[in-house]
Amino acid sequence: MPENTRTHLDLRVIAQDPSVKGDDDGILTAVVRVPWSRMEDGPRGPRFHVVDYDASAGRFLLHPAPPDRDVFAQAPDDQLVKDFAFHAQQVYAVASKTLATFESALGRRLSWGFAGQHLHLVPHAFAEANAYYSWEDRSLLFGYVPAAGGRGPVYTCLSYDVVVHETTHAVLDGLRRRYLEPGLPDQAALHEGFADVVALLSVFTMPPVVEQALGPADKSGRISGRNVTLDKLRRGVLTGVAEQIGQVLTQGRGALRRSALHPPPKDWATRAAYAEPHKRGEILVSVVLDVLLDIWLKRLVALFPPGEDHTRSTLDRARAAEEGAKAAGHLLSMMIRGLDYLPPVEFELPDLLYAVLLADVEMAPDDDLKYRDILIDRFGQVGITVPADWATSGLDVESPPTYLGMNFAALRSNRDEVFRFLWENAHRLGIETEYYTTVETVLPSQRIGPDGLIVSETVATYVQMLDLKAGELERISGLNLPEGIDPATPVQLFGGGTLVFDQFGHLKLHIHKDLGEWWRQLRRLDYLNGSGKRDSQQRLGFSDGAARGQAFAELHNTELTTGEAW
Ligand SMILES: [Zn+2]
Repeated sequence: MPENTRTHLDLRVIAQDPSVKGDDDGILTAVVRVPWSRMEDGPRGPRFHVVDYDASAGRFLLHPAPPDRDVFAQAPDDQLVKDFAFHAQQVYAVASKTLATFESALGRRLSWGFAGQHLHLVPHAFAEANAYYSWEDRSLLFGYVPAAGGRGPVYTCLSYDVVVHETTHAVLDGLRRRYLEPGLPDQAALHEGFADVVALLSVFTMPPVVEQALGPADKSGRISGRNVTLDKLRRGVLTGVAEQIGQVLTQGRGALRRSALHPPPKDWATRAAYAEPHKRGEILVSVVLDVLLDIWLKRLVALFPPGEDHTRSTLDRARAAEEGAKAAGHLLSMMIRGLDYLPPVEFELPDLLYAVLLADVEMAPDDDLKYRDILIDRFGQVGITVPADWATSGLDVESPPTYLGMNFAALRSNRDEVFRFLWENAHRLGIETEYYTTVETVLPSQRIGPDGLIVSETVATYVQMLDLKAGELERISGLNLPEGIDPATPVQLFGGGTLVFDQFGHLKLHIHKDLGEWWRQLRRLDYLNGSGKRDSQQRLGFSDGAARGQAFAELHNTELTTGEAW
């Protein structure tokens, strides 16, 4: 193909991890399509730079840029596992594919949470079963377990899901940078849960993986219609896909499988164990897995002639897998699109459901297949709900905002202009003006609308802050301080919102978490205090309180006593 018409590179990757075998008993691999770009050795493209530096061994390797034809297309299994140049290709391809998935769902280029365009991918960072995103190092660091006692080495960089999970942390940090700051328990859970959701759904968009989950086919490649039930599909997905997710880091404990098998207890939100971010994040994963199965089953049943008892019939396995992969891809886009409609601070899990629903209305107003009902139902089963009038509650204003004195072009790109809009309309939008307020982002996005035409909108976020002593908060709010917080403790409170302007520059959504919702502020302080999240000056909730850069190193350390890692 002439260079000027290239749009992508096809690169072979290990589809789950080297322990997962296909029908031929070889390592299950897939070809992923990543956006084309000029490549340099590393490999190094415009957004990712593979740095194969091993701090434990003090070794640095420079791998050649992938040539036009994938040199690993026919490589034997043992080469895939041993050749560090393939490891470099694996992390480059999977990270690129993940970023491309986010960019295509959100309709724009995405920035990292740090200054700079290159995210470093370090495939053999250290000799430890851990992997994490380091904001400080602008890197995704993947560890490995050296060979020992007759067992070969284990490389976290060869696990597709681990690479997707870590890349998602980096992308999410770029989209909502304040979510790494001390927040409500749901906020850390979102980072972990969403990274797992993207990992699970991404793995599931590869038909070879789904075929394995469906079990063996007969000689003509067909499976029994008896397998097309929610229960059978669930079991196949759990044993074929979910239980491998994160296995390399949880050392066989199968974190996802356990949580997805058992619906969470009704009172999970108040149980101490569920305050831990990974555990809490599992709620999200188990709900999304249920939604995926519901959608997939719906699509499979539709393949049989109407009125036929499908349990007596058979189904082409490749076709059934394709439907699963499509369902996963669709759900993944739905979930990602919601991210733009999240508040910039004070995240709670119902915010995600609300955001995903709102974003989906834009894409598919009619919802012929009733996917939104499935979401509402499944989230509702674990107590994550939205108000019944969610579809019309996105802009509850006393009187319509004014645009007098504002510049339409500037409103789409300039933070000061958006601040001017806020200033002018604060009372109409119910924004408290007594707090320090700043507009943090103004991002234009383009999406394909339901009629196939391009829809432009602008998403802006603002944040409000208040520094005070815990005792003063007690006085203002009229509520009691949580146990164990001294009234003299300095605390920092946050509020803020997301403004969505339509293609005509008119405000259509205002998603907000008000600073003055004191019960929420006290809940946040109670959580931060209870989980020991004070900064070096013993203050609570300050934005620069934690060592932000290394936030995930600790969270993902397998040595943690919580039993959940990565
Ligand atoms: Zn994580």
